[in-house]
Amino acid sequence: MARRFQTRGISKDRVYTIKMAARTVGVSEQTFRQWHKDGLHLISDKRPYLVRGADLIDFLKKREKANKVPMCKGQFFCMACKAPRDARKGSITYSATTALTGRLSGLCAVCGGKLGQFCRAASSSDFMIGDAAPPSAGAQA
Ligand SMILES: [Zn+2]
Repeated sequence: MARRFQTRGISKDRVYTIKMAARTVGVSEQTFRQWHKDGLHLISDKRPYLVRGADLIDFLKKREKANKVPMCKGQFFCMACKAPRDARKGSITYSATTALTGRLSGLCAVCGGKLGQFCRAASSSDFMIGDAAPPSAGAQA
């Protein structure tokens, strides 16, 4: 899973030097050179290298979209397998962090690695399918 970059600090109507843009996004100038090779449009090929804010936002959004992994309901993303995985039966636990949200943790069914995900308390039961989920009244209907 690729890192997500903040685009909020970038102004669409501004032109940035690579140094300024790198500082705003929070990456090195080397990363910007790589992004340019990956398709980030620069205003010119001569120094100082300039990038339009709108082009940068566009590039980062496209990049993020391309890196999204579709997952089914109740699946976790395993960092070790780098793929969506089901949790091992009986391994899922829910610990509340607030009244409405909490953290689910379990073990990957494939590699046995740790899985974790934040979720709303109301949807935590989606992950407990086949697990020690509390029986719900409508389950047999
Ligand atoms: Zn795994």
